[in-house]
Amino acid sequence: MIHRLNQPDYDRWAGQIRRTGGCRQPIHLRGKVEHYDQATGHLLHRFSTSTEPNGVLRVACKTRRASRCPACAEVYRADTYQLVRAGLVGGKGVPETVSAHPCLFVTLTAPSFGAVHVRREKNGKVLPCHARRDAETCPHGRTMSCTDRHSADDSRLGEPLCPDCYDYDGSVLFNAISPELWRRFTLALRRRFARLNGLTVKALREHVSIAFAKVAEYQRRGVVHFHAVIRLDGPDGPGSPPPSWATADALAQAVQHAAAVVTAEIKPLSRTIRWGTQLDVRPITMDGDLTEQAVAAYIAKYATKAAECVGTLDRRIQPLDDLAALPVREHARRLIAACMRLGSEPGLADLRLTHWAHMLGFRGHFSTKSRRYSTTLGALRSAREEHMRAEQITTGRLALFDEDTVLVIAHWAYAGQGLSVGEQLLASAITGQHPPHLGGPDDR
Ligand SMILES: [Zn+2]
Ligand SMILES: [Zn+2]
Ligand SMILES: [Zn+2]
Repeated sequence: MIHRLNQPDYDRWAGQIRRTGGCRQPIHLRGKVEHYDQATGHLLHRFSTSTEPNGVLRVACKTRRASRCPACAEVYRADTYQLVRAGLVGGKGVPETVSAHPCLFVTLTAPSFGAVHVRREKNGKVLPCHARRDAETCPHGRTMSCTDRHSADDSRLGEPLCPDCYDYDGSVLFNAISPELWRRFTLALRRRFARLNGLTVKALREHVSIAFAKVAEYQRRGVVHFHAVIRLDGPDGPGSPPPSWATADALAQAVQHAAAVVTAEIKPLSRTIRWGTQLDVRPITMDGDLTEQAVAAYIAKYATKAAECVGTLDRRIQPLDDLAALPVREHARRLIAACMRLGSEPGLADLRLTHWAHMLGFRGHFSTKSRRYSTTLGALRSAREEHMRAEQITTGRLALFDEDTVLVIAHWAYAGQGLSVGEQLLASAITGQHPPHLGGPDDR
């Protein structure tokens, strides 16, 4: 820290850190950008990292994972919020009339893979976990009952009553196949909605399009479920109203049907994977129980979370890792072991379970949306970069040229990533954030 503070180019370094927005693990780039006049070939402006601190430019890592970089994850969360919200009430290029389109908030869950410790509340009182008068004894001699009233932070929540009975294979296979199950759900939904209105899917497209935005959330038991916004538009997307016969009720019926019927086969194991029976379908309204702000905030919150809440690792598991020595809870260890074992079966190679073992088998995107839901994260980013560019021009880092007449030649090379422990402390002071716990840059 003292070393960095005493560098003659400290101010310049601090400026770079400020521009990364307090990124905890900035990427270091070495290189240069040159602007040439296309007509004369004259060099108009040159920016090289050779005069920057340590000869590198530090740029934000842009991760969405809050466990890796809180600053960048916050940017991602805020962008996701804007994106979801624009699809509900308009803005960011989406007309406000979209708020009148029928719209549902749907939660699709995984089936049960065995009884787990749960916290249930009724009228503000916590109920016993699994109170059974004549509870069965499982083949491993465990009584399948738990009369504890678990507190919200009880580490047993989500863990099986009997780990030896629990279907770990089913759990990781569900995670692995869930993106495909979701895809099939959207197709089945369109088919059912068309049929409810006496149309073919092709004919439906001339009147109605169905837009989605969804986010995956890990439940404590280590399995993902999906929260989705599903909206009815006219044939030209959010700018066109759906016909009056395309109602939220009909959409809800189609959702119920599609969620119940879709399946995905794991052929080598002769297993059929389907959604759980717990399905939540609620209309989103401007003034009802479920407002658009609540939905957008909810989806954005989960967009920056991964599997770490289950107590797994925030990094890939390497083939030489000793599973027994990993600093994880026993339930997560068993899920990871199931991934490693099934991942080595040739017939299941497509699921890439070994590669995604630290995610307990899930390899899908955390937040996705259909093309015409609203704006894109890319559009939000480029709007922000345009703003940053204007700032850099006024501070002399970038010259102001007409894009059409100037040739830009850029050479960039990756030159590492991260900050030293001392630099992390300085960076939090500069950007007004909480300092990280002092584990060093590699303790991720
Ligand atoms: Zn970052
Ligand atoms: Zn319990
Ligand atoms: Zn058992």
